[in-house]
Amino acid sequence: MTLSTTLSVTVRAAAKVNLHLGVGRPRPDGFHPLATVYQTLSLHDDVTASTGPAWSVSLVCEDDIDRDAFPAGEDNIVVRAGRLLAAHHDVGLAAGLTVRKSIPIAGGLAGGSADAAATLVALDRLWDLQTSDADLLALAARLGSDVPFALVGGTALGGGRGELVTPAPDEGTRWWVVVPARTGLSTPAVYRHFDELCPDAPEEVTVPDDLVAALGDPDNRVLAAVLRNDLQPVAIDLRPELGELIEAGERAGALRGIVSGSGPTCLFLCSDRGSADRLRTTLLDAGHPRVLVALGPVSGTHVVEYS
Ligand code: ATP
Repeated sequence: MTLSTTLSVTVRAAAKVNLHLGVGRPRPDGFHPLATVYQTLSLHDDVTASTGPAWSVSLVCEDDIDRDAFPAGEDNIVVRAGRLLAAHHDVGLAAGLTVRKSIPIAGGLAGGSADAAATLVALDRLWDLQTSDADLLALAARLGSDVPFALVGGTALGGGRGELVTPAPDEGTRWWVVVPARTGLSTPAVYRHFDELCPDAPEEVTVPDDLVAALGDPDNRVLAAVLRNDLQPVAIDLRPELGELIEAGERAGALRGIVSGSGPTCLFLCSDRGSADRLRTTLLDAGHPRVLVALGPVSGTHVVEYS
């Protein structure tokens, strides 16, 4: 009898949109308090972890992804995630990590965070470490504020600096049109500009009740009416064309257009799939090179292939 050995594990990593992003003034530790509602989208990367003698990272993507913005080697968050998991279990192991990327880089869709969450799960399975959910969430929070949510997925409230995640029931299928920008925006730069533009931001922020109530209604018009992102005016101040894009999308049939997180990706909530497909065609005809249709919520990181 031959024992089968797992040589590689592929885990799906979903992009996220913030249905609400309330931002307060910086805390003493420098982080901004956030009150957010996250939702995972069907737009995703896949991370494959393979047994190997040394850490390595490679990228597989189409031409519409900005390859130069993908850090090589140790600077990549997937290597940081792998090293953190190995250190947590005190195992002297390394792995090869391949990211098949569709999520725009530095787009406000937390693609790097999703890749990090997927790496934790892929290596946990590859090495059969059986890390508890609580430990995975704690390791994820050390990697970044959005990483715990990427593990959990679905629709969820985020508190603290975003890392305290509470799943929220969502009764709808939310159809989104996603319009990536040609070049990314730096999240720290957007937060610095927020501090300049909003010196009187509140010390504490909360998720409004009407947003939580809207999640209980499958009608996307109800949700569209309460979407809000405190970083949207900041991103538009840095990139005025984002405001023009949002106006154009709403004129062309979207229920609402929003900047995703720190931007610059814009998302349009539509009433149903047909309306999302029509808006995509209109925006492509208007000259936007990459326009995608995605639905949410989808599940968090999960294994899609063992070999
Ligand atoms: P944030 O999570 O900060 O809102 P974002 O969604 O705007 O970020 P990401 O695609 O996560 O954007 O990338 C943020 C930065 O992280 C990039 O500028 C890039 O240099 C760095 N980075 C490190 N590893 C990765 C990765 N695996 N994928 C994408 N970016 C990465």
